[in-house]
Amino acid sequence: MTDLPSHARVVIIGGGAVGVSALYHLALAGWTDCLLLEKNELTAGSTWHAAGNCPSFSTSWAVMNMQRYSLSLYRRLAAEVDYPMNYHVTGSVRLAHTRQRMQEFQRAKGMGRAQGMALEVIGRDEIRGHYPYVELHDLAGALHDPDDGDIDPAQLTQALAKGARMLGAQIQRFTTVTGIDRVGDEWIVQTDKGAVRCEKVVNAAGYHAQKVGEWFRPFGGRRVPMAVMSHQYLLTEQIPELAARMAEQGKLPLLRDVDSSYYLRQEKAGFNLGPYERNARAHWASPDDPFPQDFSFQLFPDDLERLEWYIEDVCARVPLLAQAGVARVINGPIPYAPDGLPLLGPMPGVRNAYEACVFTFGITQAGGAGKVLAEWVTRGQTEWDMWSCDPRRFGAHADDAYALAKAVETYGHEYAMHFPMARWPAGADRRLSPLHGRLQAAGAVMAPYNGWERAQWFAAPGDDLSWAATQTWDRAGPWEPRIAAECAAVRDGCGVLAISGFTRLAVSGPGARDYVDSLTCSRLPKPGRVGLAYFCDPRGRVVTEMSVTNEGPDRVGLITASVAQWHDGEHLWRGAPPGISVADHSDQAECLLVTGPKARDVLAAITGADLGQPWLSVQQVAVAGCTVGLLRVSFAGELGWELHCAIADAPVLWDAVTGAGAVPFGMVALNSLRIEKGYKAWKGDLSTDYTALELGLDRFIDWTKAFPGKAALQAERDRGPARRIVTLTLDAPGAADAPYMANIWQGDTRVGETLSGAWGYRVGASVALGMLRADLVADGTAVEVEIFGERFGATVRGEGPLWDPGNLRLRG
Ligand SMILES: Cc1cc2nc3c(=O)[nH]c(=O)nc-3n(C[C@H](O)[C@H](O)[C@H](O)COP(=O)(O)OP(=O)(O)OC[C@H]3O[C@@H](n4cnc5c(N)ncnc54)[C@H](O)[C@@H]3O)c2cc1C
Repeated sequence: MTDLPSHARVVIIGGGAVGVSALYHLALAGWTDCLLLEKNELTAGSTWHAAGNCPSFSTSWAVMNMQRYSLSLYRRLAAEVDYPMNYHVTGSVRLAHTRQRMQEFQRAKGMGRAQGMALEVIGRDEIRGHYPYVELHDLAGALHDPDDGDIDPAQLTQALAKGARMLGAQIQRFTTVTGIDRVGDEWIVQTDKGAVRCEKVVNAAGYHAQKVGEWFRPFGGRRVPMAVMSHQYLLTEQIPELAARMAEQGKLPLLRDVDSSYYLRQEKAGFNLGPYERNARAHWASPDDPFPQDFSFQLFPDDLERLEWYIEDVCARVPLLAQAGVARVINGPIPYAPDGLPLLGPMPGVRNAYEACVFTFGITQAGGAGKVLAEWVTRGQTEWDMWSCDPRRFGAHADDAYALAKAVETYGHEYAMHFPMARWPAGADRRLSPLHGRLQAAGAVMAPYNGWERAQWFAAPGDDLSWAATQTWDRAGPWEPRIAAECAAVRDGCGVLAISGFTRLAVSGPGARDYVDSLTCSRLPKPGRVGLAYFCDPRGRVVTEMSVTNEGPDRVGLITASVAQWHDGEHLWRGAPPGISVADHSDQAECLLVTGPKARDVLAAITGADLGQPWLSVQQVAVAGCTVGLLRVSFAGELGWELHCAIADAPVLWDAVTGAGAVPFGMVALNSLRIEKGYKAWKGDLSTDYTALELGLDRFIDWTKAFPGKAALQAERDRGPARRIVTLTLDAPGAADAPYMANIWQGDTRVGETLSGAWGYRVGASVALGMLRADLVADGTAVEVEIFGERFGATVRGEGPLWDPGNLRLRG
């Protein structure tokens, strides 16, 4: 006998904290006809043995949102579902050893304040007020997070399960999912107790996610990019002094020494110490260590040797710890995606399937993750832009070898700072353009874009290319004079940038043009022209931006960001009517951006094409004997052309263009140039956190036609947007330019946030694109921008571009 239902609207595979939270949030959203299947008891995967730490800290805006939501949910959950839980909000102290770490904390504090949290950066002298047992001599200060704490992961999961059941959702334990089928529009979820039909499926299988993901391959899925790491924490014996303190003052805050790389939490009257060690160990990644059939409620053998350095370090930091012996070690499997963030959102390539898996901090994130997943499933859109966790962010380059190399690197540097000019070495050279050797010979310092290596900047012989040189938030560094020279070359002469790996999509079939037109709020270009098209969700928020070439009624070409490959492809194919197909030929072409006032002279030397054709024109021409799609556009904001050619022809073109006088420049220079020009970047500025009107895209909206988001945008237009994107210049710039999500202030009031910032070498100022309260957008308005904790006077430079506002250079 089985009481397995034959049908559910949504089936969730996996009953850890994340899967159960997803079920709870689906039920909260009114989707009560949902079923969770767990092969063992709830929590049998990673959840049962988790340390249960619940930080709010993140340097990602989206992840901080998710964690903040979790913590507020956990405070009220016990009462809401009448399930008492051990949840201790103790606060935490995160130690800084360096000035750069203090800057990172300042940035997190700024983001936290913007989200309504009371994070505080404290000086060295204040640390003992929060944590009396810590040695201070080599510290720079700390971050105090009053909302941090710890929760019992099993109780949390049971409370969410109770809440879900109370709302009518179902959980079947001891039911193993064994495969997936599809009949018509329905999924058939096969289990050891029979089959369940459903509309939508969620892979919430934790470290089993890759195995579960394989079942979706016949339906368009890819191999789930992940590896399984072993993570250990040790529990000490009880310490009388801690017991006495606890009786009087309660539990100590959680201590994290992120520069040494561990957390230390009070557990009863002892400690729980959890290092993220450099000599990290992956499991189940080689034939001699196969993935087990079942590992429910199991642990790896203790491996304390790996932790020796950390144990010594923490005993020196908190000598009280040395009074106690080790009572128990917990060494369990923890899944890692290549960047250490979860896979949360639509399953790449598969309709009506989702992922909520590969969580490395799945206890503190479970609450928020459940909310986000439920939003994806029930509405197809999320309150916060969640690109940093979107499963579509990894392309086909993220195979097992890549995922393993990155997981080991990420785990070993779990608390590392991610400086803008530092390149993490693991998983390099996945996709190389045939120009790679030439770029390297010219001194290129490379970085990956969806796996494609592109030049960031070009070093000169003798430049310091060490890792140490990159460990800074500051603008200055060995790259600075080189980038200045690259920008000057583009401003005064002609530069050439290889933009390898652009996403190239072709929508074809009867009525292809009308279909693309129905998706975008923008007017499609006429044949022979290229234009920018914006795609909104029903709220009018910007889902994506693509360059469109009109190749007739039955074929439209789209070029878009490299990393947007799966996201944008899916945006086009998900709703495509029968007969319309979307082809991806990103791997077949290369693009050279040739730009600067002398770009015409450079090209005239190597092509007979009509270079008098206007801005936004498109021609198929011969350049240096190669067939080239010549698009008259330049993201650098100068006279320029993009040369799109067969990938094999790229070296011939590169040699011709550089031979005719173009100077190589890199992506960092391009970023500076485009910010001066007010051009927005996908996910840097353009995201579903903002509407098309807030992002100043008015002139790209064709109000005469129907498009997704039109009603919302019309209503917003009528009442006037509450905020607008502007260009700002800093009056007296500091050492660093504005990072993403730096607060903009007027007096004591937060009035906005920066999106992109860079030094503008053409205008000689630190420039930022910022989202500002609409009443403050007038040219000349004085505000302040908070950069790594310091406020700098800034002036609003209006909604137009700072550089070449009349587009004279562009059209020249
Ligand atoms: C030692 C250690 C300490 C940790 N400490 C913390 C911490 O302090 N804070 C924090 O936030 N995170 C911590 N983590 C990470 C945390 O444990 C995980 O991120 C979290 O538990 C993931 O939850 P989940 O629901 O995604 O996956 P899981 O808990 O692994 O749940 C997945 C479930 O899917 C089930 N399943 C798999 N395949 C099938 C199938 N075919 N059919 C049916 N069911 C299936 C499994 O049985 C399992 O129960 C720690 C991890 C480790 C190893």
